[in-house]
Amino acid sequence: MKNIVIIGGGISGYLILMNLLRTPGAQRLNVVLLEKERLDRLGVPYETTEEAHLLNVPVSNMSAFSDDKNHFADWLLKNAIDFTPLSFMPRKIYRQYILDIFNHLMKYKSELINVSMLQAEAVDVDMEGKNVLLNGAGQLSFDQLIMATGTFPPGHLALKNNDYTHSANYFPSAWQPGLMDSLKGLEEIFIIGTGLTMTDTIISLHKRGHKGKVTAISRHGLMPAVHKKCIPYPCFGEDMRKQVTILGMFGILKKHLKQAAIIGSDWRAVTDALRPHIPQLWNQLAEVERKAFIEHLRHRWEVCRHRMPEECALIVHSWLATGKITMYAGRIRQISESAEAGFCITYIQEKTQLIKQLKADVIINCMGPLTDYNLIVHDLIRNLMQKGVICADPLGLGLQCSAEGALIQQDGRVSDCFYTIGAPAKGTLWETTAVPEIRVQAKQLADRVTGMHKPLLQYSNS
Ligand SMILES: Cc1cc2nc3c(=O)[nH]c(=O)nc-3n(C[C@H](O)[C@H](O)[C@H](O)COP(=O)(O)OP(=O)(O)OC[C@H]3O[C@@H](n4cnc5c(N)ncnc54)[C@H](O)[C@@H]3O)c2cc1C
Repeated sequence: MKNIVIIGGGISGYLILMNLLRTPGAQRLNVVLLEKERLDRLGVPYETTEEAHLLNVPVSNMSAFSDDKNHFADWLLKNAIDFTPLSFMPRKIYRQYILDIFNHLMKYKSELINVSMLQAEAVDVDMEGKNVLLNGAGQLSFDQLIMATGTFPPGHLALKNNDYTHSANYFPSAWQPGLMDSLKGLEEIFIIGTGLTMTDTIISLHKRGHKGKVTAISRHGLMPAVHKKCIPYPCFGEDMRKQVTILGMFGILKKHLKQAAIIGSDWRAVTDALRPHIPQLWNQLAEVERKAFIEHLRHRWEVCRHRMPEECALIVHSWLATGKITMYAGRIRQISESAEAGFCITYIQEKTQLIKQLKADVIINCMGPLTDYNLIVHDLIRNLMQKGVICADPLGLGLQCSAEGALIQQDGRVSDCFYTIGAPAKGTLWETTAVPEIRVQAKQLADRVTGMHKPLLQYSNS
């Protein structure tokens, strides 16, 4: 009997478990999935019950399984839910899909596989005794352990005085339960961050008929681009295989962007064609090149890569056009709060370098997840970091691990029984946070922990 423990019941944890349930073979497995929140929550993005909170990846690329690309589309068809391969479905439907498939696999699972789902928080791991320690009491022994803990809430701004974070009107995360219900509809809201979390927040405010003015700020003031149907562009990752500098890679990218325009395609199709090759290309870059990308190009890449569906853009753009939301590029220098005037936000405008001030009743932090593991406040992470069982990657993107997710300890040893998946692998793979990549890793890890390991699977967009 092999004991496999999965920490985290988000999409990553579920996809590993589902791949284990689909694994043929005469192996006895005892699998435990630990989740600190509700077991059927499936992580923050899919918890939403709002119809207007859409997936930002089309149906055609959201199958749960890398070896069955039409699986999600087939499920929608079977359940008589309207869609086209290019539709962006509500995230709550995706949650329904995963839970339905999971329940089906559980119903027909082999008797050799024993599965336990436990609502509990893992707080530490004893690597010598091979035990996961749980919050409260108890421990679980493992032969193979997978940390599918996903992302962590955003950090606070690095300001001299962070007193404002203690205010009842400051929301440290846009996903904080009860946030929307606590608003009365007239508040002036200040949003930190202008990415997809901000657009989701605008959509929620819109659906609730929010009347107060909204202001948003980010360093570059860039909003996610919008998805658009376009002629697919052929794969060209191979052209970049010999490039070891970010400038060299972008030179080739520019050539393909021009070519796409000539054939009537679009930059979106070029980005999508590159996506499956990104882990390999990221690997080719030395740390100094990766750093240069993060400092100079990341903000531009992110808005092109993480796009919003047209339905969402219609709402956000109408808010911009009517002045219900104003967006700024700038650096926040100070935030203070007084009982009479609410929040006063001082920032330096990017374009003019002038010091400006804004007022707000409520602040919502939409900065995106904190990825520097030296700063993450979480018992499990803190304990593992202190013991040197895991270590932060040098660029503060996640944890040090191999391309297959094997965690690297502080002494440089690559673990043969402790793995990660998804967001924590960003430093190694860069493109690793969404289902098209996670489903490949989940299959890979399920094979590895059951000893059925094959060479690395290819990521694919279609
Ligand atoms: C708003 C939003 C929209 C998105 N839309 C899409 C989309 O359309 N398509 C797409 O492919 N991707 C999308 N993503 C990316 C998304 O991150 C992935 O799809 C997916 O949710 C990642 O799942 P995960 O399991 O890796 O992480 P998470 O969802 O973060 O799950 C990790 C889980 O681990 C649990 N956990 C953490 N620590 C412990 C512990 N110590 N003990 C026990 N449990 C623990 C947490 O409670 C959590 O439930 C979106 C992300 C966001 C934020």
